[in-house]
Amino acid sequence: MARVLVTGGAGFIGAHTVRALLKRGQAVTVLDDLSTGAESNLTALAGDLEFVKGTVCSDDDIQRSLRSVDRIIHLAAVVSVVRSVNDPVGCDAVNVHGTVRLLDRARHAQIRRIVFASSAAVYGEDPSQPKVESARIEVLSGYAASKACGELYMQMFHRLYHMEPVVLRYFNVFGPRQNPKSQYAAVIPTFIDCMLKGTPPTVNGDGEQTRDFCCVDNVVDANLRALESRDAVGRVINIGTGTRTSLNQLLDMLGVIGNTRLAPIFGPAVLGDLRHSVADISLARTLMDYAPRVSLTEGLAQTVAYLRQVQSLA
Ligand code: NAD
Repeated sequence: MARVLVTGGAGFIGAHTVRALLKRGQAVTVLDDLSTGAESNLTALAGDLEFVKGTVCSDDDIQRSLRSVDRIIHLAAVVSVVRSVNDPVGCDAVNVHGTVRLLDRARHAQIRRIVFASSAAVYGEDPSQPKVESARIEVLSGYAASKACGELYMQMFHRLYHMEPVVLRYFNVFGPRQNPKSQYAAVIPTFIDCMLKGTPPTVNGDGEQTRDFCCVDNVVDANLRALESRDAVGRVINIGTGTRTSLNQLLDMLGVIGNTRLAPIFGPAVLGDLRHSVADISLARTLMDYAPRVSLTEGLAQTVAYLRQVQSLA
């Protein structure tokens, strides 16, 4: 059976994607260097799963992982904005060069469909809301620049070699398995971690900044749709919920789920932090019949339950 390669499949979004593919009876190969992912994310998964420990920066590792593959979901990346600012060259090596290398190997192997994980970070400080895909790209970090370059290469391989890339610009993804201990942890696992430990969370600024928080199940659904959709080929598509939520609202919602009151400490605003960010998801709806099926409340409840379980086992 033809296989789907998921690069970065041992990471947060990757492991959820692999699980969903296997559940559909799809054979899957994962290529991951385990730099931020963990093989334990893939244990206890039933199905035809091959794991290749290796990097998208190596032709040999890519070749090993492409055996019998007919489609790719490319998630492997240096995902930390802070790291990309401190080490733009290291970020470029994986996110740009690794991506071109993968595209080129895929081209030679006659693999056409590739779903590419881009990011809302490419919108930079563009003030328009909600973000539409046609907005000007503005990069404020090595990470955003690398994702923008990845998008351009997808376009190039589409135009020149008739490959079938689908670029998905994810907004703020959250859910079980997102690591609250990582140095660059996203706000949701960090807040939940504080709630479970009974310590006050720190909010940078006044907490009125808003984001489009999207449960990982919705992103997985988008990834699977993008693997199949004809209309999405060659397109750049926002994936979020279309709803904005402030950090203060988020804390209130978590308080209700955890039956507690989360009194935050308000710290100084982070320089360059975006005030608002929300996706226009009309294109995803039209081209892929995508809709955010898991609500923020439901996703938060799942994440709290997961982190509670992790804490109880620690
Ligand atoms: P993650 O760190 O959990 O996953 C990234 C995975 O890639 C990890 O398993 C890591 O070990 C692997 N990896 C890193 N460098 C590699 C290399 N050179 N070769 C092979 N594997 C490598 O992060 P995530 O949140 O699951 O992100 C997945 C993708 O989604 C990334 O491309 C990220 O940029 C994108 N994205 C994520 C979000 C979000 O909110 N989490 C938002 C926008 C875009």
